[in-house]
Amino acid sequence: MTESSPSSSQPLARRGLMFILSSPSGAGKTTIARKLLAEVDGIGMSVSVTTRPMRPGEVEGKDYHFVDQATFDAMVENGEFLEWAKVFGNCYGTPKAQIKAGLKAGQDFLFDIDWQGTQQLYQRMETDVVRVFLLPPSIAELEHRLRSRGTDSDEVIAARMDRARFEISHWDGYDYVVVNDDIAGCYDKVLTILEAERMSRARQTGLVDFTRWLMQEPSE
Ligand code: 5GP
Repeated sequence: MTESSPSSSQPLARRGLMFILSSPSGAGKTTIARKLLAEVDGIGMSVSVTTRPMRPGEVEGKDYHFVDQATFDAMVENGEFLEWAKVFGNCYGTPKAQIKAGLKAGQDFLFDIDWQGTQQLYQRMETDVVRVFLLPPSIAELEHRLRSRGTDSDEVIAARMDRARFEISHWDGYDYVVVNDDIAGCYDKVLTILEAERMSRARQTGLVDFTRWLMQEPSE
């Protein structure tokens, strides 16, 4: 078989997608998200705006854009968010401009947002959204994982477990549910979902041109 020259192939243009990964804390979302961002081309993190104070180690513009309440309220007023929600008393929102331009250019975005934001994004931009929910293999295993971090008091762990039960109760608002009983296997499944969704016909913006090109008669 001969290798095709660059001029003999045409890329299939597509619109980017919004890949939402949600899970209760301790179900492995951060590990899976980091691996996806490090290993997969064409996907970047959607960086949210928040009124929450910066935690040690966090970086402005990488983890979040940190703003005060008046700035956040003005952004809401000006329609600068695709979605926003109040979580644990702080406001969080997805800025519109960067995402819309990126999607048009074929860039995919990974979202770490809660179920309320997921619902809003889906209502607004249904065909661009892929919703994936990660579940722990059992509640006992989730508690074990939170305890083995060794960072939280019994009280904090009890609060996280209550929050986890609440988040798990929203699993039915997602397109895919993946049980994380083994991190490597879970990552492979999440990657398979991303790769399949990238091929969805609904996202192919250049199909007419591409198929026309495919079916043209070979020229001398
Ligand atoms: P944290 O303060 O621990 O970084 O995040 C708290 C919660 O806010 C997490 O459940 C996270 O998924 C959610 N969150 C972060 N950014 C956004 C956002 O832009 N919109 C919504 N709706 N939730 C967000």
